[in-house]
Amino acid sequence: MSFLSKLLFKNKTQEIAAAGSDSILIKGEELKRSVNEVFGRSLFVRLVDSGSCNACENELAALSNPYYDLERFGIKFVASPKHADVLIITGCVTRNMLNPMLKTYENIPSPKFVITAGDCPETGGPFKDSYSVCGPVSKYLNIAVHIKGCPPEPETIISGFLKFMDILKASYRNTENTSIKMPNKIINVP
Ligand code: SF4
Repeated sequence: MSFLSKLLFKNKTQEIAAAGSDSILIKGEELKRSVNEVFGRSLFVRLVDSGSCNACENELAALSNPYYDLERFGIKFVASPKHADVLIITGCVTRNMLNPMLKTYENIPSPKFVITAGDCPETGGPFKDSYSVCGPVSKYLNIAVHIKGCPPEPETIISGFLKFMDILKASYRNTENTSIKMPNKIINVP
């Protein structure tokens, strides 16, 4: 490694070490405490892109980079819905993605929760007038928390997880609020 590369690498490492600005660390530690309190372990999340422009996925993917490193706060993205506690949905819900989205939800063991990220799942965003869009997500699933933004920044997504944990803690204190709307059947859209 050349001297210049070493210097640049060192600066980059220092930048990452400074990472996680104070506000991220404060939110992250609070998140970790809440996740431990409610789940006694990590919170597992399965992501479904129901028809997005991919910018929201990029922001969610950034949560796994060394700067945000979401796993240190007890939140882990998993590949199988069978391992998940939470379904996080991006995108406007296209007709092609409706069934995969609902089937993924169906395969998450109860109790399960839905978080939506980005404006598309709520309003359809720039795709709302397309013939292929059959959203919003709230037509089909009960949403615990909606994270606004186009796309939402990683720190906003961390705040969304915090809000979700607050709602969850309040719900468990008042058991009447723990019921969640389950789709009765998979809805087929022609
Ligand atoms: S909310 Fe914005 S960034 Fe996210 S999928 Fe929709 S258009 Fe793309």
